[in-house]
Amino acid sequence: MRPKASLLIERIHTLVTCQPTQVDPIGRIAGACVAVAGEHILAIGSMADVISEVDASDATRIDGSGKILAPGFVDSHTHLVFGGSRVQEYAARLTRTASEAVAMGIPTGILATVEMTRAESAEVLTQSALRRLDEMLQHGTTTVESKSGYGLSLAEELKILQVNQRLDDHHPIDIISTFLGAHAAPPEIPHAEYVDLVISEMIPAVAEAGLAKFCDVYCDEGYFSLEDSRRILEAARGAGLGLKIHVDQYSDLGGGGLAAALAVVSADHLNYTGRDSARRLARAGVTGVLMPLIDFAVQHPRPFQARLLIEEGMTIALATDFCPGCWAVSMPLMIQFASRQHRLSPEEAFLAATAGGARALNLNDRGILAPGFLADIQMWDLPSFEDAFYRLGHNPVEIVIKRGKIVLDRRRDGGSTGHLYR
Ligand code: ZN
Repeated sequence: MRPKASLLIERIHTLVTCQPTQVDPIGRIAGACVAVAGEHILAIGSMADVISEVDASDATRIDGSGKILAPGFVDSHTHLVFGGSRVQEYAARLTRTASEAVAMGIPTGILATVEMTRAESAEVLTQSALRRLDEMLQHGTTTVESKSGYGLSLAEELKILQVNQRLDDHHPIDIISTFLGAHAAPPEIPHAEYVDLVISEMIPAVAEAGLAKFCDVYCDEGYFSLEDSRRILEAARGAGLGLKIHVDQYSDLGGGGLAAALAVVSADHLNYTGRDSARRLARAGVTGVLMPLIDFAVQHPRPFQARLLIEEGMTIALATDFCPGCWAVSMPLMIQFASRQHRLSPEEAFLAATAGGARALNLNDRGILAPGFLADIQMWDLPSFEDAFYRLGHNPVEIVIKRGKIVLDRRRDGGSTGHLYR
C-alpha cells in the first residue's frame, strides 16, 4: 500500500531543496511536487514520481504553478524577548554619537533594556514577542533562536526563559531557547561576583529547569573577558548545555581560539576574526553566524568578512539579530543585505539562512526539503529564485507551512489572508 499524503504541493515551478548536488549548491528541481504526511516530508520529485509513490486521495492540494518553494528560514540568532524599545536611541544615533545621545538623557544600551524588561510581566513580554513572531512568520521564518540576557538576575533570567517556553507552546514557529545570562553584568553587583553567580547558581538552575538548549556568552571588551567566557562555557558544558559565543564583534580578545578549543556549536558576529582564527574555527566544525543588519543598524566600522570565512572553510549561517538595537524581523531583507554587502551569491546566502541556520542550532531535521525532514516550507510568488534578492525590501512569501500545517496563506485567488493558526 502506498503511504498516505496529508498535503500535496503540485506543479511547482522551482523547488529549492537546499540539498546541494554536483551541479547546483541549492539542489533546484523544476516542475516538482512535494508530498507531506503529518509533520514530515514524505516524497519529493517530479509530478509523475511522487504521484506513483504516494496515495494523495485525501490530501489537501496546493497549486505551485509559477511559484518558488523552499525551506522555511531558520533565524539562528535573536534577542526576541525584551521590554520597551530603544527607538529614541536609534533615532538620535542616526545623526549623533553615543555620548551625545547619553547627554540628551536618552537611555541607551543593554542596561537600558534590562531596566525596561525587568519592569514588565511575563504576560506582557509574551504578548509583545508573539507579535514579533507573527511578523517573522509572515516573512517565511519557521524556526527562531531566542536568547535571554535582559534579566541579569536568576529570577529575571528565568522569567525570560519561561516566556521562551510559552512562545514555543503558543506559536507555530519553533523556539530554540538560549541562556545568555552573561550578556552584560548588572549595575547592582561587581562584575566578578556576577560571573560567579552565573556559574554557580544561574547555569545549574537553568539546566535543571530544562529551560534552555544553549548557553551563550558575550565575549568582548567591556563585557566578558576571555577567562570569564571560558569559565562560563565550561560550566555550561558540565551542566549539559550546548555552547554558543558572541565573539570578535568589537575587538579580538582571542575568543575565536576559545570557541575552536571548546568546539562550540556556533561563533556569532566575527567582525574582527582573522584568517588563522577562521581556519581553527573551520577545523573545529564551528558554524559562524553572521548578521548583516546589526552591522548596518550600528554602522559597524568593520563589517564581517564573509568571503574570508568561507575561503578558510567555515560553514556560515545568516540571521537577523533581532534585538532592541536592530529591529529586524525580515529574513528576506537580511539575505538581500548579506548578498549585496558581503559578496555572497544568492545560493550561498539562502543556504546560510536555512540549512546553515539549522546547523548553527544543532538541528538536523530542518533547513532542507527532503523525505524525512520537517515539512517547514515557504512558497514565494516570484518568477525566479533570484528575484528574492533583486526586489529590494519585497516580501515574496505567500504561503508558510509549519510542521505540515498551512499556517499562513496570502494567495489573492481566494486564499484567506492573515493568520490561519489562531
Ligand atoms: Zn546577539
